[in-house]
Amino acid sequence: MKKSFQMLTVIVIMLLAACSTDANSNAEESTSNKEKEVTANEETESSEGDKEDNKEENNKEDENIEEEPEAKEKVEKKYTLNPAFWGFEPIGEAKSDAVLLTIDDAPDEHAVEMAKTLKELDAPAIFFVNGHFMDTEEEKAKVKEIHDMGFEIGNHTMTHSDLKSLSEEKQREEIVKLNDMIEEVIGERPTFFRAPFGSNTDFSKALVKEEGMLLMNWTYGYDWNKEYQNKAAITDIMVNSPLLQDGANLLMHDRDWTAAGLSDIVKGLRDKGYSMIDPETIDTELK
Ligand SMILES: [Zn+2]
Repeated sequence: MKKSFQMLTVIVIMLLAACSTDANSNAEESTSNKEKEVTANEETESSEGDKEDNKEENNKEDENIEEEPEAKEKVEKKYTLNPAFWGFEPIGEAKSDAVLLTIDDAPDEHAVEMAKTLKELDAPAIFFVNGHFMDTEEEKAKVKEIHDMGFEIGNHTMTHSDLKSLSEEKQREEIVKLNDMIEEVIGERPTFFRAPFGSNTDFSKALVKEEGMLLMNWTYGYDWNKEYQNKAAITDIMVNSPLLQDGANLLMHDRDWTAAGLSDIVKGLRDKGYSMIDPETIDTELK
């Protein structure tokens, strides 16, 4: 009798111990799940940034390995770049009737206003920024505001110099320093690169690739020509250019007349049956 009582006591103690262990581990699990739920949205960017950093470290020895941040992989890729016209071809479809809008030399005078115009029209675009337009807190805030409105921020070099005129070290500074600066402001490194004057070197092309960016020039643009430096002329040519075609890559700038015509340009393109390509749907892995 005494022996079986002792046995019972041992069993009860073991059961209690087991229960309390379960209870603790359940509590821990549910706490960590809750934490995950609460912080998932907030931490997406930083944890992906960390992953990217790790990837970059892992890739240091083999610079040919290209991996995109996971955030970009979540969006279905619908277009690939065709360097023959620097435009975009739909993946798995014959025709898409879409064009890409890009705004270079931002954020100078009009970029935020242009972003607001595009946002109102629900028209996505890439804003290619320069370092010399990002060297004050006020200018950095403009880049952040444009990004927060949902627009892609691309690299257009630190000082808008012709890369062909620079040493390799200077070219590196022009490109990588701006990526660092952009990351500091918007929390992520750019996915797209466009050289000033469309002037690329073998070194800059390799470096852009190494930095995980897709290099692009453009299909057409006119706003730097004197004859198109007014609202009516730039609107007309951007909508009725003989170079307008499916997938065209449209180059515009942070300029007074382009900002004035932007709304009519988007409406005119839509009237002709073109939609705007969301940069996030561009496959940046095929370079
Ligand atoms: Zn430019």
